[in-house]
Amino acid sequence: MKEILEKLRVKGVTLTPQRIAIVEFLKKITAHPTVDDIHKAIRRKYPTMSMATVYSTLELLKELGEIQELSIRKRGKACFDSNPKLHHHFLCRKCGKITDVEVDCPIIKKGWVDECKVEEAQAYLYGVCSECLKKEKSKKDKS
Ligand code: ZN
Ligand code: MN
Repeated sequence: MKEILEKLRVKGVTLTPQRIAIVEFLKKITAHPTVDDIHKAIRRKYPTMSMATVYSTLELLKELGEIQELSIRKRGKACFDSNPKLHHHFLCRKCGKITDVEVDCPIIKKGWVDECKVEEAQAYLYGVCSECLKKEKSKKDKS
Protein backbone atom coordinates (compact mmCIF):
# COMPACT_ATOMS: atom_id res chain seq x y z
CA MET A 1 0.00 0.00 0.00
CA LYS A 2 2.68 2.53 1.07
CA GLU A 3 4.86 1.15 -1.71
CA ILE A 4 2.20 1.77 -4.33
CA LEU A 5 1.71 5.34 -3.14
CA GLU A 6 5.48 5.82 -3.22
CA LYS A 7 5.64 4.47 -6.78
CA LEU A 8 2.89 6.88 -7.83
CA ARG A 9 4.70 9.76 -6.16
CA VAL A 10 7.93 8.87 -7.98
CA LYS A 11 5.95 8.92 -11.24
CA GLY A 12 5.00 12.50 -10.46
CA VAL A 13 1.36 11.73 -9.66
CA THR A 14 -0.31 14.14 -7.24
CA LEU A 15 -1.66 12.00 -4.43
CA THR A 16 -5.06 13.52 -3.73
CA PRO A 17 -7.19 11.98 -0.95
CA GLN A 18 -9.47 10.63 -3.71
CA ARG A 19 -6.61 8.83 -5.44
CA ILE A 20 -5.39 7.39 -2.13
CA ALA A 21 -8.95 6.24 -1.39
CA ILE A 22 -9.07 4.33 -4.69
CA VAL A 23 -5.76 2.58 -3.97
CA GLU A 24 -6.92 1.72 -0.45
CA PHE A 25 -10.26 0.40 -1.71
CA LEU A 26 -8.62 -1.84 -4.32
CA LYS A 27 -6.04 -3.25 -1.95
CA LYS A 28 -8.69 -4.04 0.66
CA ILE A 29 -11.14 -6.01 -1.44
CA THR A 30 -10.81 -9.44 -2.97
CA ALA A 31 -13.78 -9.03 -5.32
CA HIS A 32 -13.42 -7.88 -8.90
CA PRO A 33 -15.15 -4.49 -9.13
CA THR A 34 -16.06 -2.56 -12.27
CA VAL A 35 -15.27 1.14 -12.68
CA ASP A 36 -18.86 1.87 -11.61
CA ASP A 37 -18.49 -0.23 -8.45
CA ILE A 38 -15.30 1.62 -7.50
CA HIS A 39 -16.84 5.01 -8.28
CA LYS A 40 -19.94 4.25 -6.17
CA ALA A 41 -17.90 3.02 -3.21
CA ILE A 42 -15.52 6.00 -3.15
CA ARG A 43 -18.31 8.54 -3.71
CA ARG A 44 -19.80 7.66 -0.35
CA LYS A 45 -16.84 9.38 1.28
CA TYR A 46 -15.89 11.75 -1.52
CA PRO A 47 -19.13 12.89 -3.20
CA THR A 48 -17.23 14.99 -5.74
CA MET A 49 -15.22 12.03 -7.00
CA SER A 50 -15.40 12.00 -10.79
CA MET A 51 -15.44 9.01 -13.14
CA ALA A 52 -12.40 10.54 -14.88
CA THR A 53 -10.37 10.33 -11.67
CA VAL A 54 -11.32 6.68 -11.24
CA TYR A 55 -10.33 5.89 -14.82
CA SER A 56 -7.03 7.75 -14.70
CA THR A 57 -6.06 6.22 -11.34
CA LEU A 58 -6.85 2.72 -12.63
CA GLU A 59 -4.74 3.38 -15.73
CA LEU A 60 -1.80 4.47 -13.57
CA LEU A 61 -2.09 1.40 -11.34
CA LYS A 62 -2.28 -0.83 -14.42
CA GLU A 63 0.86 0.78 -15.86
CA LEU A 64 2.65 0.18 -12.58
CA GLY A 65 1.62 -3.48 -12.71
CA GLU A 66 -0.22 -3.22 -9.38
CA ILE A 67 -3.60 -4.27 -10.72
CA GLN A 68 -4.93 -6.01 -13.80
CA GLU A 69 -7.97 -5.53 -15.95
CA LEU A 70 -10.20 -8.53 -16.68
CA SER A 71 -12.56 -8.88 -19.62
CA ILE A 72 -14.32 -11.98 -18.31
CA ARG A 73 -17.77 -10.42 -18.80
CA LYS A 74 -18.45 -11.01 -22.47
CA ARG A 75 -19.58 -7.77 -24.11
CA GLY A 76 -19.85 -6.43 -20.59
CA LYS A 77 -17.93 -4.03 -18.46
CA ALA A 78 -14.30 -4.61 -17.64
CA CYS A 79 -13.50 -5.33 -14.03
CA PHE A 80 -10.36 -4.91 -12.01
CA ASP A 81 -8.28 -7.25 -9.92
CA SER A 82 -5.93 -5.97 -7.24
CA ASN A 83 -3.92 -9.14 -7.69
CA PRO A 84 -1.75 -8.50 -10.76
CA LYS A 85 -0.43 -12.08 -10.93
CA LEU A 86 -1.87 -14.43 -13.51
CA HIS A 87 -4.65 -16.60 -12.09
CA HIS A 88 -7.87 -18.16 -13.33
CA HIS A 89 -11.37 -16.79 -12.85
CA PHE A 90 -14.88 -18.20 -12.75
CA LEU A 91 -17.98 -16.18 -13.65
CA CYS A 92 -21.37 -17.37 -12.39
CA ARG A 93 -24.04 -16.79 -15.02
CA LYS A 94 -26.73 -16.75 -12.30
CA CYS A 95 -25.45 -14.25 -9.74
CA GLY A 96 -22.69 -12.66 -11.82
CA LYS A 97 -20.07 -13.17 -9.15
CA ILE A 98 -16.45 -13.52 -10.28
CA THR A 99 -14.18 -15.68 -8.16
CA ASP A 100 -10.57 -16.81 -8.29
CA VAL A 101 -10.25 -20.51 -9.02
CA GLU A 102 -7.51 -23.08 -8.92
CA VAL A 103 -7.65 -25.23 -12.02
CA ASP A 104 -5.73 -28.41 -12.56
CA CYS A 105 -5.95 -28.88 -16.29
CA PRO A 106 -2.97 -29.70 -18.53
CA ILE A 107 -4.30 -27.55 -21.38
CA ILE A 108 -4.22 -24.39 -19.32
CA LYS A 109 -0.85 -25.03 -17.80
CA LYS A 110 2.60 -24.28 -19.09
CA GLY A 111 3.48 -26.80 -21.78
CA TRP A 112 2.87 -27.52 -25.42
CA VAL A 113 -0.39 -26.99 -27.27
CA ASP A 114 -0.61 -27.72 -31.03
CA GLU A 115 3.17 -27.43 -31.28
CA CYS A 116 3.06 -23.99 -29.65
CA LYS A 117 4.93 -23.42 -26.43
CA VAL A 118 2.64 -22.06 -23.72
CA GLU A 119 4.46 -19.70 -21.39
CA GLU A 120 1.58 -18.22 -19.44
CA ALA A 121 -2.05 -19.12 -18.94
CA GLN A 122 -4.99 -17.26 -17.52
CA ALA A 123 -8.40 -18.75 -18.13
CA TYR A 124 -11.94 -17.44 -17.92
CA LEU A 125 -14.36 -20.16 -16.87
CA TYR A 126 -18.15 -19.84 -17.01
CA GLY A 127 -20.96 -21.68 -15.27
CA VAL A 128 -22.99 -21.74 -12.06
CA CYS A 129 -21.27 -21.14 -8.72
CA SER A 130 -21.54 -23.45 -5.70
CA GLU A 131 -23.86 -21.06 -3.81
CA CYS A 132 -26.29 -20.80 -6.73
CA LEU A 133 -26.20 -24.57 -7.19
CA LYS A 134 -27.09 -24.98 -3.50
CA LYS A 135 -29.99 -22.53 -3.85
CA GLU A 136 -31.26 -24.38 -6.92
CA LYS A 137 -31.05 -27.67 -5.08
CA SER A 138 -32.96 -26.45 -2.02
CA LYS A 139 -35.69 -25.01 -4.28
CA LYS A 140 -36.02 -28.37 -6.01
CA ASP A 141 -36.07 -30.22 -2.67
CA LYS A 142 -38.92 -28.05 -1.39
CA SER A 143 -41.15 -28.45 -4.45
ZN1 ZN B 1 -23.77 -17.69 -8.47
MN1 MN C 1 -8.77 -12.49 -9.32
